[in-house]
Amino acid sequence: METYADRKNRLVRDLAATAGAPPRLCKDTSNLFRDRAPGPRRRLDVRAFNHVLAVDREAGWVDAEGMTPYAALTEATLAHGVMVCVVPQLKSITIGGAVAGVGIESSSFRHGLVHESIEEFEVLLGDGSVVLARPDNEHADLFFGFPNTYGTLGYALRVRAKTVPVRPFVRLTHVRHTDPRAYFAELERACGTDADFVDGVVFGPAEQVLTVGRFVDEAPYASDYTYERIYYRSLRTRTEDYLGVHDYIWRWDTDWFWCSKNLHAQNPIVRRLLGRKRLNSVFYTKVMRWNARVGLTRRIDRMLGKHPESVIQDVDIPIERAPEFLEFFLREIGILPVWICPFRSPDAGRRWPLFPADPRKLYVNFGFWDVVRPDEPHPPGHFNRLVERKVHELAGIKSLYSDAYFTPDEFWASYDRAAYEALKARYDPNRVFKDLYEKTVLKQ
Ligand SMILES: Cc1cc2nc3c(=O)[nH]c(=O)nc-3n(C[C@H](O)[C@H](O)[C@H](O)COP(=O)(O)OP(=O)(O)OC[C@H]3O[C@@H](n4cnc5c(N)ncnc54)[C@H](O)[C@@H]3O)c2cc1C
Repeated sequence: METYADRKNRLVRDLAATAGAPPRLCKDTSNLFRDRAPGPRRRLDVRAFNHVLAVDREAGWVDAEGMTPYAALTEATLAHGVMVCVVPQLKSITIGGAVAGVGIESSSFRHGLVHESIEEFEVLLGDGSVVLARPDNEHADLFFGFPNTYGTLGYALRVRAKTVPVRPFVRLTHVRHTDPRAYFAELERACGTDADFVDGVVFGPAEQVLTVGRFVDEAPYASDYTYERIYYRSLRTRTEDYLGVHDYIWRWDTDWFWCSKNLHAQNPIVRRLLGRKRLNSVFYTKVMRWNARVGLTRRIDRMLGKHPESVIQDVDIPIERAPEFLEFFLREIGILPVWICPFRSPDAGRRWPLFPADPRKLYVNFGFWDVVRPDEPHPPGHFNRLVERKVHELAGIKSLYSDAYFTPDEFWASYDRAAYEALKARYDPNRVFKDLYEKTVLKQ
């Protein structure tokens, strides 16, 4: 049996053996939504780094290799009656990708973002050395600087994440609102209670649903949204629900939130034809990438005289400006539904220079993933630019996993250039990896 150390030594040899072009991760899946510009690269095969190494229920942590998808990580931890503090909703997201690319879920109002419940990680650097980054060791700068750097400082090969005990079921209450101001006020109140999970969905200007979840030991029933029934639709018709903890964690993956509609997978006949095993984000992503490659919907849009622009984004807005952002968004973009997820740092004393959230504040993540199809043409990125400017105006933060149109000045006005350059100088002095702006905006 190959060990983690064996895999690590082999990868270090692979990296040393292939000098020259910037490395690129060779992984089974990716949740990046920006096409990379063509150019020379050397593929670094990290697919074998997908093992859960140890779960210590008493000490409250799990050790896993960096490319372990959350589906496998959750399977392993639930077997010990625990889960990692924050499990992003899509089964293929990996723990290393969620640290490097920032991850969030409905427990984030209590535990913060994924990187805020990580105890340590080992990073493969461009010179082939592997360092251990902890908040209390000589690489604390890398520990706090790594989140939101998208693999431009190195690759996380092993990650130790905090775990919390689970109980067999989650009881959900769905509260409907018709006024966004009252909705966000109640969302803020819910984040001050003993709830275990808080998130929600905006279905329209007069329809917002807040979902509060609590662990329970017993349930009169457990709903199943893994096949015929569709979770997000239940929010519009039910005020209460019970799910098994595993099904609660993956409630959004079966329909990729609601994005399965783009494949007509919410049509009962299509759903039966696809079958249970294809109803997941990994399958939809593959179909979406094929469609983007062959340009099928693009051609149909053109025939219909539409000018499509893909707007797939997660943006984080301070709670007090959330109604303003929603009002702008419904007026200018209009993609619906929108996922709503609050987060607050569990430790106001910690700063993450490349993810500039104010640790004292409660933020609301707005997730919207679809295509805007106006009748009149616009410059490339027109609607994404509108979003970027509004987020900046409201002192918010835009995720970098998808398209970005910032100028260098706008970008570095949001992300701490001095801190980033200091990290690059120490951990990637020979610029083996691209820089953050080149990778996330220029798509290099
Ligand atoms: C429709 C949609 C919905 C989303 N919803 C959510 C959500 O609800 N919650 C959430 O948390 N996230 C969400 N995301 C964002 C997603 O979490 C991030 O894009 C995340 O970075 C993806 O992780 P991955 O493991 O798939 O990595 P990839 O997509 O493969 O890589 C993401 C980036 O991280 C780098 N990277 C990957 N692995 C490592 C590593 N081990 N070390 C260093 N760098 C690495 C890659 O080079 C790349 O730049 C969503 C994305 C999409 C498209």
